[in-house]
Amino acid sequence: MTGKQTRWQQQFPIKSMLILISVMLVIFTALVGFWIPENKPLTTAATATEIDSFRVEKGVFDLRQWNPEMNPLLSMNGDWEIFTDQLLTPEELPAFQPSHEPPTIPIPAEIMPGKPLSELDANGYATLRVRVLFPENEGIYGLKFAYFASAYRVWVNGKELVSAGTPVTNPAECKPRYLPSELLFHHVDGEVEVVVQVSNFHHRRMRLRPVFLGDGQAITRLTQRQIINESLIFGSLMVIALYYGVLYLIQRREPALLSLATAAFITAIRSGVIGERVLVRLWPQMPGELMMKLGYLPVFILLPLLVMYVRDILDSSEMDRAARLSLWAVLSFTLFVAVVPVSIYDAAFQYGQGLILLGSIYLIYVMVVYGFRKKNQGAYAMAAGSVVVLLAAGSDMLREFTLWNAPELVSEGLLIFIMIQAGFLAWRFNHAFLRANTLATENAAMYEEIQHMNRDLEEKIRQRTLELTNTNRKLMLMSRTDALTGADNRRSFEEKLQKEWHRLKRENQPLALIMSDIDFFKEYNDQFGHPEGDACLRQVAAAIGKTLRRETDVLARYGGEEFIIMLPNTDMAGACRVAEKIRKNVEALQIKHPYSQIHRVITVSFGVAAATPSRATTPEALVRRADQALYAAKQQGRNCVVLTDEQHTIPPKDLQSEAKNGLQKEPPKNLQNKLENDLPNGFRKYLG
Ligand code: GH3
Ligand code: MG
Ligand code: MG
Repeated sequence: MTGKQTRWQQQFPIKSMLILISVMLVIFTALVGFWIPENKPLTTAATATEIDSFRVEKGVFDLRQWNPEMNPLLSMNGDWEIFTDQLLTPEELPAFQPSHEPPTIPIPAEIMPGKPLSELDANGYATLRVRVLFPENEGIYGLKFAYFASAYRVWVNGKELVSAGTPVTNPAECKPRYLPSELLFHHVDGEVEVVVQVSNFHHRRMRLRPVFLGDGQAITRLTQRQIINESLIFGSLMVIALYYGVLYLIQRREPALLSLATAAFITAIRSGVIGERVLVRLWPQMPGELMMKLGYLPVFILLPLLVMYVRDILDSSEMDRAARLSLWAVLSFTLFVAVVPVSIYDAAFQYGQGLILLGSIYLIYVMVVYGFRKKNQGAYAMAAGSVVVLLAAGSDMLREFTLWNAPELVSEGLLIFIMIQAGFLAWRFNHAFLRANTLATENAAMYEEIQHMNRDLEEKIRQRTLELTNTNRKLMLMSRTDALTGADNRRSFEEKLQKEWHRLKRENQPLALIMSDIDFFKEYNDQFGHPEGDACLRQVAAAIGKTLRRETDVLARYGGEEFIIMLPNTDMAGACRVAEKIRKNVEALQIKHPYSQIHRVITVSFGVAAATPSRATTPEALVRRADQALYAAKQQGRNCVVLTDEQHTIPPKDLQSEAKNGLQKEPPKNLQNKLENDLPNGFRKYLG
């Protein structure tokens, strides 16, 4: 997804949503009869003046000049005959006297408390009568009572045709029912008498809304259209309430969803109990009191609900206090309406309007400061919805003052308002989803990269470890081998000697040591130089190494030109044989040494010692003995093998003094023969 696309997705829905809603508005209103309001007849020719072209005068509705085909619907406005404080049936009513001027009441009327109109009090009862003088044409006619006090019964020609609630004289027995009704009657000829009983003990005012008379079909269609319109509004709002309510319950994150769901629900209920009162028609047992309360509730709580909603969509913490206050307002108003009788909150409503005004000003203020200034899309949605509601309310106001002949539009306005908010929330959801998606993709990419880096790192560590291991091994080897000859060094030899000593002690097996030293090597070095001397050393070491056969035999460079050989599991005899073999092999190398006093080539002297390791002796003692034997071999004329007896040891001092006096400097010419028997006690020359 590219940034361009994201911006397009951000900008597009709010505009397209407004277009969509406008189109919906046109289709919707066209469908449910925008151009055919309740007080307009169905024919195109009709106008308000035509509806009001006949008036009730002194209780008589003279329609003898009426042409129902031209003008199918008429309002029955005018002065109705009234019998105050009496509930009379048609039989009980006095006969009509044409010359007599009866007491009348102008219909429609609103009788306020303490302001009796034709002596009828708001809390009271009366019987009303109209005599209708029909034209000659026979047919089905109808009456429509939009709203008539809180209970009424209607008779036509002495026959009771409709009723709502029970009009009675006793307040305790009166059952209010604010339901519009329509009735049809068959007219043959002459006059028609309409008698209406009304009573009110529940509402603050007694309301007597316009009554319509008309062609039977016109009356039926009027009601049907109205019911369909209100049912559609009720259903649409219920769907929005249900959808967003469930979404909130599932998600539990966005309180705006709950506020909107509640507002939609309350508005749905309102549209179900006003006008044709589709909810009351669905549930005829609904008490009138409850219906009134449901109708009033939205007036009290819609605004605080909106404040809570706006707080969430603008996400401004500055509104937290107002939102909390609103929550309390919603709860307390709901309780107030639920508990208090209709007449009280009906009176309180007038003062509540002041609060609504204050709330609206506050909402406009926050909308401008925290919404428009911060270019919040939710504020635009709110503004669009508010404009629709204001236009609808304005239209209704003009209509109230009969300056404008349009249907009541506030319900439609509220529906569109809520639809716009619902659309906005849907857009916001989608926006959040897209963002989460982008983040998830980025996260996955980063994770992949980290994994890759980890793998690289692991590989590097593995290589380094390998290198280190190799270096360590080399170092270890270097620390144990002699660089010049490749034989073990002295340290390594001493370690191995200790190990073998202990092993052979356990196994009770012999261990032999051969100490060797190149003869007259100093002269060789002096004459040929150090590099030549080194080469000679390497050759000698190689010759010794080649002679050793066993895996466990160890050759080590013990000093400058001294080598020590360890032979585990080897006794004295075996070791002497090995030493002699080495001696011969070195001689066989034929390394020229003209300055040797005993030969023409390089030769080596050997001292051999052997022992079965035990607690009585130590490896160091064995080395010393081999060394002493080597000394003796030097004494014996060199290029020979001398061994020590196992039991016999000589103090090194004696040997040294003997050596000093002896042959070191000036060995006699025929050294070998002369000194053969000249060995100290415990040393013997080995003759291979
Ligand atoms: P002897 O027969 O009594 O052993 O006589 P020698 O000359 O071998 O006597 P000595 O042991 O005193 O001499 C050892 C000489 O070996 C000293 C030095 O010149 C030589 N040498 C010791 N270590 C090395 C070495 O690593 N390389 C070389 N080239 N020469 C060495
Ligand atoms: Mg030496
Ligand atoms: Mg030497």
